[in-house]
Amino acid sequence: MKESKKTEELKKKLIYKRKNFWQDNSKKESDRAFTFSENYKDFLDMSKTDRETIKYFEQKLINGKFTDIDKEAKGRNVYRISRNKNAAIAIVGKKPVKDGVNLIVSHIDAPRVDLKQNPLSEDGSTKLGILRTHYYGGIKKYQWMSTPLAIHGVFVKADGKVIDVCIGEDKNDPVFVMPDLLPHLARKEQYTKKIGEAIAAAHMKIVFNSISFPDDKEAKDAVKLNALSILNDKYGIIEEDFLSAELEIVPAGKARDCGIDRSMILGYGQDDRICAYTSAEALFGLTGKNLDKTAIVYLADKEEIGSEGNTGAKSVFIIDFIADLLKHNKENYDSATLRKTLINSQILSADVNAAINPNFPGVHEKENAVHLGFGISLTKFTGAGGKSSSNDANAEFNAKIIRIFNEEKVNWQTGALGKVDEGGGGTIAKYMAEHGAEVIDCGPGLLGMHSLYELSSKADIFSTFKAYSAFFKKG
Ligand SMILES: [Zn+2]
Repeated sequence: MKESKKTEELKKKLIYKRKNFWQDNSKKESDRAFTFSENYKDFLDMSKTDRETIKYFEQKLINGKFTDIDKEAKGRNVYRISRNKNAAIAIVGKKPVKDGVNLIVSHIDAPRVDLKQNPLSEDGSTKLGILRTHYYGGIKKYQWMSTPLAIHGVFVKADGKVIDVCIGEDKNDPVFVMPDLLPHLARKEQYTKKIGEAIAAAHMKIVFNSISFPDDKEAKDAVKLNALSILNDKYGIIEEDFLSAELEIVPAGKARDCGIDRSMILGYGQDDRICAYTSAEALFGLTGKNLDKTAIVYLADKEEIGSEGNTGAKSVFIIDFIADLLKHNKENYDSATLRKTLINSQILSADVNAAINPNFPGVHEKENAVHLGFGISLTKFTGAGGKSSSNDANAEFNAKIIRIFNEEKVNWQTGALGKVDEGGGGTIAKYMAEHGAEVIDCGPGLLGMHSLYELSSKADIFSTFKAYSAFFKKG
C-alpha cells in the first residue's frame, strides 16, 4: 500500500532515521572517504604497537612544524611525548586556555600477546625452541592459534641503548606461530570444554626455532643455544636482555581492503588506532586556522588493561600538560586555575563501539546499536548492567555535539554497546570526567572488535575524521 505524500513528509519530519553514508553522500564525498582511508592503512601497517604509533606521530609532528613544549616551544602548535608511549598534541586557540579546551582522547594500545620476561626454552619432548607468552587485554585466545605472527618491540641494554625489533612484517622475514591442536585429537582436550577454556594461557607458546647449535649439536639445550646465538649475531643481545625487554606478538601482515566494493578495511589494532589517526589528522588539518578554543589530541596507552600506569589515562600526564599549556600561553597556572580550566573543558572519549554483526545480531538491540557504514557513533553511556561504571554524558552536552555534527554534515548515529544484561564494557570517559569536564564517548563501530583482524568501514573512518574536525572548530 502506497503512503500518501503527507504521511511521507510527516515521517521524514518526525522520525529519527540513521543515514547510510554511501546513500546519503555524493560520489565526490564517497571518493574522499576512499582516498582518506588509503593513508590510514599505511598508518596501521607502521603502527602495530604503542611505541610504533608514537614514533609515527612524532615524525609527523616534526614535519608539521609542531614544537616540543619541553624544548624550543614557541607559537601555537606544541606537543609532549612521554616515555615513548603516550602523547598530547595541542593547537592553542585565540581564547585563554583557562576558558576550557576541546580535547579528544583515544588509546594507542591494542589487545595482543606479550613475551614473558624469561621466555625462551627448549622443549624437552619436541626439541623445539619455544617462547612463553602472557596475553595483554581482552582476547579470545583461540583466535591466536595457528595464524602467522610477528614480533615487535624493544630490548633495552643495561647501558640504556635501545634496540628496536620487528620480525615478520617484511615479505622476506620469517613469521612465528602458536600451533593449535588438530581436530582429530581435540575431542577430549578441547571439544568437551567451554570455548573460553579450550585454549589455556599455557597453550600459547610460540615455536621459535628447531635447529641445534651447529658447533655442538649434542650439547644440552643446543636448540635454545642456537636461538640465542642467532639473536646475538643480529641484535647483540644475551638472554638476560629479555628480562627487561618489551616484546609484543601481533598478527603478521598488512591491513587490506575488504569487500568486493572495497568499502571496508580489515586490519589489526583498529581499536583504537582508528580514533588516534582520525583525531590527529583532524588536528593537523586545522593548523594555521586560528581556532577559538585550544584543541588537544591525547593519545593514551594501557586502556586495554584499565588505563593504569604512568602512560595510561588515569595518570597525571594530561593534567600536567594542560597546566604547562596555561604557562606556555602566559596565563596563571596555579591549581585553582587548572581545576577551573578542566571543569570548563569538553572531551570526546574517542573509542570504537561494537557494530551489529550479521553473524550474531542477537546480542544487540538494533534500534540502539551501531551500524557499519552509518557514520560515527555517539554513545551517551557505556558500562554494564544498570549503567555501572559509566560516565553517562549530560543531555546538554550530548545535544550540543549533535548540533555541531548536523551543521557540519557529519553522518552520525547513536550507539549503545550491546543489549542491557548482555555484557558491557567501558573506556576512558569516566576517568576524564573525574576532572569535571563534559565528556561523551564518540567513535566508529567495528565488527570483530578485539579479534586479530577488525573490520571497519571507510564511510565511518571518514565520518569520524569529519566529526573530530567539527568538534575542534565549533565545540
Ligand atoms: Zn578501545
